[in-house]
Parts: sequence; structure tokens; C-alpha cells
Amino acid sequence: ELSKNGWLLDIEKLTLGENIGEGEFGAVYEGVYMGQRVAVKTIKCDVTAQAFLQETTVMTKLQHKNLVRLLGVILHKGLHIVTELMTKGNLVNFLRTRGRSVVNSVQLLRFSLDVCEGMDYLESKKLVHRDLAARNVLISDDNVAKVSDFGLTKVDSKVSDKAKLPVKWTAPEALKKEKFSTKSDVWSYGILLWEIFSYGRQPYPKMSLQEVKDKVEQGYRMEAPEDCPPSVYSLMRVCWEQEPRKRPGFHKLREKLDREMEKLSPGSGS
Ligand code: ATP
Repeated sequence: ELSKNGWLLDIEKLTLGENIGEGEFGAVYEGVYMGQRVAVKTIKCDVTAQAFLQETTVMTKLQHKNLVRLLGVILHKGLHIVTELMTKGNLVNFLRTRGRSVVNSVQLLRFSLDVCEGMDYLESKKLVHRDLAARNVLISDDNVAKVSDFGLTKVDSKVSDKAKLPVKWTAPEALKKEKFSTKSDVWSYGILLWEIFSYGRQPYPKMSLQEVKDKVEQGYRMEAPEDCPPSVYSLMRVCWEQEPRKRPGFHKLREKLDREMEKLSPGSGS
């Protein structure tokens, strides 16, 4: 199916550059494919590659300005996944290295909206991300935030292996009963909002994973990050409703964020 529709790329047309990151399954390189700057993720293990190949078929059907775009795959000594290059790296590092003196609250809200729009699109396609976190959001050259690692998460060992779930980002019902849904993605989105407005801090600072599991189950929630607008904090809190159906969907969240943006920066909304 991939070859039929032109998703199979030619290794001869790829020039590999520097190593720009380490993924769980292999290194990520910068490169150029037919004149376009790209990122190339290499998966060496054959079994994993087979599973990834199935999932990239899902990815080929997804196109949105706030999802990292797949260009195609190369089959050559394992699997190479070629995506658009996101020159400014992941959102956690972006916020940590620049900080409050460089990034203002309008830009924080812009990133929040970008991610929300990408997730609204995934929700409309009935896809569940399962690993939404600031480390999986990448920043383009023109400062647009895009969700990455979608569609790949289902083959991720992290998901089938309960011990490897990203505890601090995972909704209680997903941790306990493996009930993943758009509403568990919304919980993760609330954590991601907290990461954004705290400029890339680790969620639940100083708490162990077991402590987080136990306390969150008993109703404990993180406090607002320093200088976080109360309206944004109340969005986090609805994302963290214990009951999944009490959490808003991404479409509703988007409307609320649009209104915030209009208050903070009139006329700049999307
Ligand atoms: P994890 O599963 O732990 O999230 P991973 O195996 O999915 O990791 P990635 O997150 O895809 O690996 O990649 C690791 C790092 O490589 C990213 O944090 C980012 O810094 C860099 N990277 C990945 N894709 C791109 C891209 N398209 N453009 C620029 N940098 C990228």
C-alpha cells in the first residue's frame, strides 16, 4: 500500500546530516530529501520496524498544520521514517532554554492552541494519541508547535507494557484499567498545559511515580504554575476531572483558548 501511493522514498535522493536526537528505537538525523530539509528516524530492529511500517500507513492519511508531517519511509537496512524537519526541537527544551525573559504569555497561549488544534483534528479522525506530552511536541522554524509521535504510539512497548506508561501524563483510568480514549488524551493535554505555563518544568516536582499514582487517585492535583492566568489554570483543572466524561473534548477546549487569546491579544486569534 505504501509503494502504491508513493510513500516509499528513494535512499539515493537522501543526504544524511548530523545526529539531532535519540529516540527509544534509534537515532534521529537531520537530512535533505530532494531539496527539502527533513528529519530521519532510523529503526534498526526488524520486528519493531514491521510494526512501525503498519502505523506509518495510518500517518499517511493524516495532514494538518499542527501535526508533524510524514514525507514517507525508506526501506534500507531497517526502516527510516522521513518527516518534515522541526528546527527548533522539542517544546520542553525550547521553553527551558529561552525562559520567561524571551517567551511571553501570548506565545505560551499560541503553543497551547497549536497543540489543541492538532489534537482536535486527531479526535475528529477518532485516533487516540496515548503519549501526549511536551517532549512529543516539536517547534518549526517559524515557531509553530506540532504534535509528533502520533499513530506510532500503539506499537510502542510503553503502551502494552503497563510498567512503562508515562505515569505523570496518564489519566487514572488509563493507568488502572488501560482505558485509553480521547478523554485520557485530554487529561494528558492538561499536564502539557501545566508544562507550557511552567516553562518546561517536570510535572509533580519532587514526587515519586508511586506517590503521584496514589495521590492523584485520592484527588490531589498540581497547583497553578507561577504567574499562570487563573483562566488557564481552570482549563487544566477540567482536563483533570477524575470522571472522563466530565472532561471537555478538544473542540470545546479550543473555543475556550480562542477566547483567552482574544482577551490577551485582540485580533490575533485563529
Ligand atoms: P519517546 O518515545 O521517548 O518520545 P522517540 O523514540 O519517539 O522518543 P522522538 O521523540 O521521535 O523519539 O525523537 C527524539 C528527539 O529527536 C526529539 O526529542 C527531538 O529533539 C528530535 N526529533 C525527532 N523528530 C524530529 C523532527 N521531525 N525534527 C527535528 N527534531 C526531531
